Amino acid sequence: MNPVKKYSNNIQPNWCPGCGHFSILRGIQVAADQLRIPNEQLVVASGIGCSGRLSGYMHSYSFHGIHGRILPFAQGVKLANKDLAVIAVGGDGDGFAIGTNHTLHAMRRNLNITYIVLNNQVYGLTKGHTSPLSEIGFVTKSTPAGAADLPLKPGIISLAAGVTYLAQSFSGDQDQMIDLIIKGIQHQGFSFINVFSPCITFNKTNTYQWYRENLKDIEEDKDYDVNNLQQAMSKLIETDGLCKGLIYQNTHVENPSQHTIKETSLAQQELNIPEEEFQYLMK
Ligand code: SF4
Repeated sequence: MNPVKKYSNNIQPNWCPGCGHFSILRGIQVAADQLRIPNEQLVVASGIGCSGRLSGYMHSYSFHGIHGRILPFAQGVKLANKDLAVIAVGGDGDGFAIGTNHTLHAMRRNLNITYIVLNNQVYGLTKGHTSPLSEIGFVTKSTPAGAADLPLKPGIISLAAGVTYLAQSFSGDQDQMIDLIIKGIQHQGFSFINVFSPCITFNKTNTYQWYRENLKDIEEDKDYDVNNLQQAMSKLIETDGLCKGLIYQNTHVENPSQHTIKETSLAQQELNIPEEEFQYLMK
């Protein structure tokens, strides 16, 4: 069966024609199909923004949460049922403005879920004002003289927060994106995929053409070692974050949930969950 049909419901996406998010929706569907994840074993949860609509188009379990809070929800789903494949999606504003706190702590907690940021460097749903990832000088109706603040760098921040899988991708390179989503879902721990996804309506600077000209493909560097944290950090600094491919992976974390078990032992006691059952939930 066609993977798009298999994982789509009957709701037509109402994104602007040409929006990068179409590509990511299909990327998730193809990746899920290639991994043979049954519809009833897949959960796609999203925050608020144009990106937030994505979960509503999936034929899977889905949840459209509140702004910036999708990671606590996604982690809760995984803790409740470790057998589900859990994918959280959100925009750059969702994950790196109001939700930054949750993003950093989910990364260091390292539960086995995948987080895909649909990064268009602008707030699209609210008609195009600057996000924390907009470049300095980016002109919008609310910043006619250009954005004044330094942009956050999601790749560098995530490495500093202890993420064990970091990839960056581009809506205009779907083959690579699908490969990175598959690897992210397979990764035993928290996988973060930052996808540059052009907003063709409100961001006339970071266009498809702009990304094609400015993104460096890490996979072309045969000496690059994805297991080397220092090299990953250097690559992100050297390219000012404008690189794509698998940037970093740490496969040596023996028990991705061990820290969470320690942190939530108090909750276990308060809820009076038997030790055996609690350990099962945390696997
Ligand atoms: Fe996509 Fe931008 Fe349109 Fe939102 S406003 S649907 S992000 S192109």
